Amino acid sequence: MGIYEELGVPPVINAMGTFTIYGGSKMSPQTLRDMQEAAASFVDIRLLQRRLSQAVAELTHNEAAYICGGASCGVYLSLLAAIAKKRGKKVRHLSREDFYRSEVILFRSHRNPYDIVLDQLGVKLVELAYPNHSLKDPCGDILAAVTPDTAAVYYLESGWVSPGAPALSDVIQAARTARIPVVLDAAAMLPPVENLWAYTAAGVDLAVFSGGKDLRGPQSSGLIVGSLALIDILLEEGFPTHGYGRMFKVGREEMAGLYSALKQFLAADHEARKRDAEEQVALARNMLGGHPLYEPLRSYPNEAGQPIPRVHVRLKTGTVSSGHILAFLAAGSPPVIAADSGPDGFYLNPMTLTMAEMELICRRLLDFTEIPPGKEVYTDV
Ligand SMILES: *Cc1c(COP(=O)(O)O)cnc(C)c1O
Repeated sequence: MGIYEELGVPPVINAMGTFTIYGGSKMSPQTLRDMQEAAASFVDIRLLQRRLSQAVAELTHNEAAYICGGASCGVYLSLLAAIAKKRGKKVRHLSREDFYRSEVILFRSHRNPYDIVLDQLGVKLVELAYPNHSLKDPCGDILAAVTPDTAAVYYLESGWVSPGAPALSDVIQAARTARIPVVLDAAAMLPPVENLWAYTAAGVDLAVFSGGKDLRGPQSSGLIVGSLALIDILLEEGFPTHGYGRMFKVGREEMAGLYSALKQFLAADHEARKRDAEEQVALARNMLGGHPLYEPLRSYPNEAGQPIPRVHVRLKTGTVSSGHILAFLAAGSPPVIAADSGPDGFYLNPMTLTMAEMELICRRLLDFTEIPPGKEVYTDV
């Protein structure tokens, strides 16, 4: 009996994409083999982290790199390094007062469900502009907000960004003028693979990626790339050092797994990947096209802003809602999990599907005849 069967947790077909609540992504057999090998020996974790920093920096054309336990803690650690640098102290010597006095600038259009790390650091958040609107001169706004205590500007690249957010280039320009680092949460911004070096080449000081999304590394891994001066602080004070670093443990298996997945991601045929996604979208449009209930459309880019198409199925009648369809898909065996686009439609995302799974989902959708009893289901991320 398999572990999931033993626990009564049925494996699902994930049509939502690289969402952590369904596992994010699947590691390749090569990654799993490399993790198994890494787990079989004791090693000096600090030495491993340093060697990986150099190797990953080289692979991603960056000054330095740091493997951490996920993008959220990557953002925390990046800002921690920026605070330590600003205060001219080692992380271990930072007082509560050092945190209270430190300021991090961000735009209200970048507030998002992951930014709780900013509150947790205990820094003063200096919020600019409006949730759905930035003023004409974001550079000027940043420069006016900078004080001797400004430790960093936080920037978000994600589907969570509200319309009207300032351009990254403007923020970089202002931050450069004021000599403060830009910390970028780009957790889900892979693909495109070039983002591993494009952000830092454009002037971002630290860019943070999730290892457990499309990089297909371990769920509990993340990657920081960028400034050697800042990452040196993390190499000294991050895991396995006691204190702040120790809160964010990252096992040698995860480190090796992320390294392995990264090499495979860099070597992957990303054009073939896009073609596969286009073919899945075409298959769904063929199978569902002309149906009285479904209007299958190609949607691009996807919810994270990644350059991969997905299927947007619009419902033609007001009586059947996406909540009914999602409940029907989730009640099947195996359960299919998809994301709604509001009450009148839903998405099927090829990123986490095989062609055979897309076909299975479409077949099941063709079997939908009546509104199932029970509650409508909406996706909760
Ligand atoms: C997914 C995501 C995170 C969290 O990444 P983890 O690797 O799961 O910690 C943080 N920020 C954004 C914008 C994300 O999309």
